[in-house]
Amino acid sequence: MVEKTNHHMTSDEFREAGRELVDWIADYYDFVENRPVVPDVEPGDIRSRLPAHPPESGESFDAIMRDVDRVIMPGITHWQSPNFFAYFPSNTSFPSILGEMMSAGLGVQGMVWKTSPACTELETHVMDWVVELLGLPSRFLSTGKGGGVIQDTASSAVLCAMLAARERVTKGVSNKTGAPVNLVAYTSTQAHSSVQKAARIAGIGDENIRMIEVDDTFAMNPVALEKAIREDREAGKIPFFVSATVGTTSSMAMDNVFSISKLLDEQIWLHVDAAMAGSAAVCPELRGMHDGLEFADSYCFNPHKWLFTNFDCSCFFVADRNALTNALSILPEYLRTAEHAAGAIDYRDWQVPLGRRFRALKLWFVIRHYGSKGLQSHVRQHIELAKEFETWVSQSKQFELVARRSLNTVCFAHQQGNAATEAVLQAVNATGKLFASHTKLNDRYTIRMVVGGRDTEHRHVLAAWNNFCTTADEVIAP
Ligand SMILES: *Cc1c(COP(=O)(O)O)cnc(C)c1O
Repeated sequence: MVEKTNHHMTSDEFREAGRELVDWIADYYDFVENRPVVPDVEPGDIRSRLPAHPPESGESFDAIMRDVDRVIMPGITHWQSPNFFAYFPSNTSFPSILGEMMSAGLGVQGMVWKTSPACTELETHVMDWVVELLGLPSRFLSTGKGGGVIQDTASSAVLCAMLAARERVTKGVSNKTGAPVNLVAYTSTQAHSSVQKAARIAGIGDENIRMIEVDDTFAMNPVALEKAIREDREAGKIPFFVSATVGTTSSMAMDNVFSISKLLDEQIWLHVDAAMAGSAAVCPELRGMHDGLEFADSYCFNPHKWLFTNFDCSCFFVADRNALTNALSILPEYLRTAEHAAGAIDYRDWQVPLGRRFRALKLWFVIRHYGSKGLQSHVRQHIELAKEFETWVSQSKQFELVARRSLNTVCFAHQQGNAATEAVLQAVNATGKLFASHTKLNDRYTIRMVVGGRDTEHRHVLAAWNNFCTTADEVIAP
């Protein structure tokens, strides 16, 4: 018998399996609301159901799909469930899934313009659209000195911003000999941990990042920032980077970008992290949160959180693209192209990795499918639902607000204290009927209710509230 030499799936087999998978995904969305949001499994349960060794002979697509249903699905946390209110939304949508599928299908590497011109040019163009869509300052447009790039995450964005800032303040020295020991970065106690991680990776170090105190709205206190910068300068240090947060992770608090920007000079890079909140700027009436952004050096928000675009898609903008590429560009001979020499964008110089996927497709599909009006309408619906939830909490005899509602996020607690709040949250999540997560604000154990699911409607939010109330009746002694 002649041994088979071609083991690939044929295009006809792919057509059939692909149609089946698209149906499978559509069914998943049609019925996901009936599933327990969080799976009932222990660590190791999923692995124990998988064969110990890889197969020697290839298996059929049907066999693989059977194991997806049998082994994988029981271990899925249903982020796309309309009853998912934890952490942050990571919503996606069918246009986005189609764009992702196309990106996988084309399988291009967009590291330099030449390796796929459309990958680069669509990205540049869509990022300019996003500036208009969110009403961002024109300094972030690629038609001027700035420009946008799609990163995998907000963590990568703040790292790239910090590297650019480090390079700018040391005028090239840090790339040659490493970061000087006297550089200092600033963010608030409520900022995302990715700022601290960036400081580690950029060689700044935990001891050289100041966590500035916040006011009673959990926003960075500009007076405390000014004092910290002054004291560091007096001690011979070089303040070089501030990361302000528009929409903090715990409570969606808004740093005042305008006040912060007024304290800084040319030496200090201002980055604005609006990972979750930024999407809300599709609505003109919500753009006040970006006041002062015209003085920022960089800005980031994640369409993969609240703009119906599946992970990963983080939009990162800089006011001066040369500051970014000065820090990150190393041009080996094998990547030299005439087009780059003539000014074409090579996005490899705007990020940490070399290789990059064609992420702009999914964002382009999403923006074209919904239009600005469609996106505004859904974001407004989420905020209205959060508002209503806030009203229920404020009128409740058992629960109370821990912070002012901000956009789609409501932070609340049981009136009897931390142990009661924690008990209620755990009991509610154990019902499988919804999933909410927690944080601590001023040492108060706090439940966070974040509304942003593609399919989340009034009835889901109301059912969640009723669940909190009846569960509290059951688990808390009056
Ligand atoms: C979610 C979040 C991040 C981190 O997002 P990644 O894209 O996963 O790195 C950073 N900052 C804020 C404010 C966030 O909400």
